[in-house]
Amino acid sequence: MGSFDRSVSLKQTRWTVTGAAGFIGSNLVEGLLSLDQDVVGVDNFSTGHRENLEKVLAKIRPEQQRRFTFVEGDIQSPEVCRKACRGASAVLHHAAVVSVPFSVEHPTLTFDVNSKGFINILDAARAEGSRVVYASSSAVYGDLPGLPKTEESPVAPISPYGLSKRDNELWGALYWQSYGVPTVGLRYFNIFGPRQDPKGAYAAVVAAWMNSLKKGRPGTVYGDGSNTRGFCHVRNVVEANILAGTTERKDAFGQVFNISSGSPVGLLDLYDVIRSVTGQRGEETNPLFAPKRLGDVLHSAADISKAERVLGFVPHVSLEEGLADLAREDG
Ligand code: NAD
Repeated sequence: MGSFDRSVSLKQTRWTVTGAAGFIGSNLVEGLLSLDQDVVGVDNFSTGHRENLEKVLAKIRPEQQRRFTFVEGDIQSPEVCRKACRGASAVLHHAAVVSVPFSVEHPTLTFDVNSKGFINILDAARAEGSRVVYASSSAVYGDLPGLPKTEESPVAPISPYGLSKRDNELWGALYWQSYGVPTVGLRYFNIFGPRQDPKGAYAAVVAAWMNSLKKGRPGTVYGDGSNTRGFCHVRNVVEANILAGTTERKDAFGQVFNISSGSPVGLLDLYDVIRSVTGQRGEETNPLFAPKRLGDVLHSAADISKAERVLGFVPHVSLEEGLADLAREDG
């Protein structure tokens, strides 16, 4: 059965995963290969790592390893996108400038990669007759009041990153309506799990705190910690992508879906859970506080009933189970 435990039978087909060497991308590659699918990965290693793919391939059977091919390249190149999408039934598009603070510093690059790169992928999919499932983000909602967010809630991104994800949604809908390319947008809310990069100034909070606390060091809280967020384990995201990549419901196309799990938690409560699953209770692991970062959203919470209703999405892995799994991992 491999390392992905979803009881699903998939018709054997060919998938393209962009951003394959990244956190979510490498988990998608792992999930698909363990279900005996053909997978083409594409990445330029700007924030992803070759090691992520090596770890995935080391976990699966040799005949599954042989189903994987890799294109090293940049999605800013239409030729790279054409090559990577050739023969794919579905493209799971995850390559992007992913950091909110980085996007604030580099709006032009964020536009080139996230917006123009996505159109390159849509064009390649159109030429190949492929479906496109793409990663959007809760960042599209910005800081407007009103929780939990439904897909009908107003959007008002407050960073170049959030704006680029909203832009993707509009292009995704247009390519379905105007060109008949089936597209499905998944608005992720704070995903965590294995192979999320814990290092650097822009690291996501669960990975950064897990990494520090496992070593008996304190984690940094930006702001006063009163922020609340929904978190979702990456195995739930793999399932959402497979559902979106295979659904026969036409009312899913040109649409966006919130993808999250459980209730939102306060960041200080999350810190305490990570402390507890890593067995750290001493004063030396009390959190460090630093100023709030520009573009960071204060509160986020998702209503996922549309994904449940249309895609059949059920987040099987809870926050507590996911964090405990992560604490048991090496490194
Ligand atoms: P990640 O940085 O681990 O993965 C992104 C991958 O894309 C990296 O491997 C990177 O090298 C690759 N990439 C970047 N620019 C590229 C380019 N120009 N050409 C080819 N490859 C390129 O980040 P992640 O957390 O796995 O995010 C994956 C997707 O999910 C992104 O689109 C991100 O915006 C979205 N997302 C993630 C979260 C989360 O909580 N992790 C939340 C919302 C949305």
